[in-house]
Amino acid sequence: MRYAETGYNLEVDLSTGKVEKVETDPRWTELFLGGLGTNARLIWDRVPPEADAFSEENILVISAGLLVGTPVIGANRAIVSSISPTTGLFVFSMAGGFFGPELKHAGYDKIIIKGKSPKPVYLWIHNDHVEIRDASHLRGKGSLETIELLRQELKDPRAQGIAIGPAGENRVYFASIETTRGSFSRAGVGAVMGDKGLKAVMVRGTREVNVLQPREVYEFSNEVLRFIRHRKENPLKGVQPIHETIGAPQEMVIDDEEWHCNNFAWGHARQRRRDFWNKEVEQRWAEITNQVRKRLIGCYNCPLYCTALISVPGYYPYHLKCFTKLTYVLAAYGDLDFGFKINSYSVQYGFDGYSAAQVCAFAVELYENGILTDKDMPGFPSNNEERFFWLLDKIAHREGIGDILADGVYRAARQIGRGAEAFDHNTIKKLEQVPIKLGMLNPIYFLMWSTNEKGNITQVEGQVPQVHLTPEQKENFIKDWVQLPTKYADKIKAWLRDWQPRGERSYPFWPSLDTVCALVDWQEVMHYLDDCLGLCSGLDAFAYKPPYHVHNMPHLLKITAGLELDEESLWDAAVRVRTLVRAINNSRGLRRKDDKPPEDHWKHRFPEYEAKLIDAFYQHRGWNQDGIPTKETLERLQMGFVAEEFIRRGILTEAAAEAK
Ligand code: SF4
Repeated sequence: MRYAETGYNLEVDLSTGKVEKVETDPRWTELFLGGLGTNARLIWDRVPPEADAFSEENILVISAGLLVGTPVIGANRAIVSSISPTTGLFVFSMAGGFFGPELKHAGYDKIIIKGKSPKPVYLWIHNDHVEIRDASHLRGKGSLETIELLRQELKDPRAQGIAIGPAGENRVYFASIETTRGSFSRAGVGAVMGDKGLKAVMVRGTREVNVLQPREVYEFSNEVLRFIRHRKENPLKGVQPIHETIGAPQEMVIDDEEWHCNNFAWGHARQRRRDFWNKEVEQRWAEITNQVRKRLIGCYNCPLYCTALISVPGYYPYHLKCFTKLTYVLAAYGDLDFGFKINSYSVQYGFDGYSAAQVCAFAVELYENGILTDKDMPGFPSNNEERFFWLLDKIAHREGIGDILADGVYRAARQIGRGAEAFDHNTIKKLEQVPIKLGMLNPIYFLMWSTNEKGNITQVEGQVPQVHLTPEQKENFIKDWVQLPTKYADKIKAWLRDWQPRGERSYPFWPSLDTVCALVDWQEVMHYLDDCLGLCSGLDAFAYKPPYHVHNMPHLLKITAGLELDEESLWDAAVRVRTLVRAINNSRGLRRKDDKPPEDHWKHRFPEYEAKLIDAFYQHRGWNQDGIPTKETLERLQMGFVAEEFIRRGILTEAAAEAK
C-alpha cells in the first residue's frame, strides 16, 4: 500500500485522446518527495532541452504535493510545472484551495498533459471516470465563469476546477491558470495550457488518502492547530503588521499598508512614494475594503482565512490574497477601489497579477516618453486607470499593440525598439518582478533575487526578519526560535543579534559570506520542501516562526508517507530537487551571466563583492563557477544520470569533472 501519495498518475494525450492511469515508482518519492520534486524529474526525463513552451513535446504537469489530501493542516498546494514561454526555463507555479486535495481523493497524484488538441476541450475526472470533453462553448469565457458553468453542466457543485481565461487561450506569456481559491500565476503556465487547447480541468473525488499512522497524524495535526492558535494570540512585535501572525500575508485582513505603499515602487517600478501613507488614506482604504470584502475564506483543511471574497457591483466576484491587492494600484498610481475592480478583470482574463500590472505600467511609461504614440495605440484613454482596463483588454485578445505586449516586457521592449529596451529594467531571466527599488545592496537578497529560479522573491524569502528590531525585540524573537536548522542555528541567531542599520555590522559587506550563504540556503530549502510536500508556505517557509520546520518534518513524513528521513537527509532531498531544477535550466542554457538582479534594483552596487557572493553561493551549492552543478555534487545527490547527460552534451567536460 502507498501512503500519503496515491501511487498513480493520470496521463492524458490531447493529440490522440488516449487516457491512461499509470502506477508510479515509489523510489522517486524517496528521492524527490513528490509535488515539485517528481514534476522536475518528469520534465527532465521527458522534455528535451530543445523543446520550447509551445512545442508538441512540452508537457504540463498538474500535481498535488505529497501530503495533500491527508489530515495534515494546510497541506493543500497543487503545483503546475512545464517549460515557461517567458523564460524558456522550467516553471513551477503553486496554488492553494481545494483542487489539489480533490485530485488526490479522485485517486491521482498528478495529471500529465501531453500533445495538443485541435479544438478547445476540458477534462472531467470523477474517480476512475476520465473524459476529454468539447469546450468550444466556453471559448472566450472568463476563468471563474468557466468553472462555474462547468459545475452546472456536470451537475456537480462540489467538483473542483482549474481554468484559463482568454489570456491563456491566446497564449499571453503571463497568462495564469485560476482556481476558485487561488491562482497558478507565474511565468505563463496558462499560456501552455491554452496552447494545448485545454480550457479547464474539473475533478470530483470520493476516495480515501492513506496515511501510515492515522492516530499519530491526528495528534500531530492537533498540535499544529494549538501552535497556530498560540501564534494568533501572541503576535510578534516589531515586524511588519502583515507578518505578525502566520498564514499568507494578512493583507485582506489588515488595512495598514504603509510598508508596501511607502517602500515599494509605483508605476513601472520607478518611483517610491515615501510620504504616501497617512491616517486619511488608511481610513479611506479600510472603508473601501469593508464595502467589497464579503467574507474571508481559506483553503482545504486550514483554520486560517487569508483570502477575501470580493464583490464589487457590476464586476464578477472573485478571490483576492496577499500583495495582488496592491499590484495594479501601485502600477497605475490608482486608488484601492480601482485595484478591487481591475483585479476582477485580471482574474477573469486569467492574468498573472504581478506581471500584467507591470506590463501595463511599462506601456504607459513608453507612451509618456513618446516611444509608443497614438499611432501605435489609437483610442488610448487619457485617464490612467482607464488605460489599464484598455490595455488588459487589448493584451488578453492580442489586438493591436496588445499582441506585442502579450509577450511580456522583455520581448515587447525588443520588438518595439526605438529605445524601449532601456525601460526593461525590472525583469530577471526575462520575467517581470515585484516592483522594488532600494538603496543599499542587501547581500542576502542579492543572492536570492539573482540565483532563484522560482520566478518570484516571495517564493524564496521567509522566516527571517527583514526590518530592524530593537535589542529587546531581537531577544524575544530568538528565545523560542525553534525553527532554526541545527547546522545554522548559532550563526543565524548571531546574525540577528548583531545586525545594525549602520556601521560595521550593516550591509553590504557584513555578515560573512558564510552566513549569507547559510541564510539563503535555509530559506530556499524550506520553500522547496513546501513545494514538494504541498504545504502552504504561509504555514512554513514564508512565515515567521511557523508550525512546520526541519525538526518536525521528518516525523511528519514518517507517520504520513512512511518515509525514513532525518534532518540531514530531508535537507539533502530538498537540495536534490533544487539542484535538479537548476540542471534542467542549465540544459536549457542557464549560466552565471543570467544570475543577476535588475540593474537598478539597488542604487548602491558593488560588482566585485557581488561576484564574490555568487562565487561563495555556487561553492556552497556545489556548482562550478558557471553555475552548473559539478559531477561530484550530482553523484552525492544520487543524480549521476544528470552528470552523464551533462558530459554527453558537453555542459560538463569529463576532464573538468575529474578535476573536481
Ligand atoms: S494559511 Fe491561508 S493561504 Fe495558507 S492554506 Fe491556510 S488559508 Fe490557505
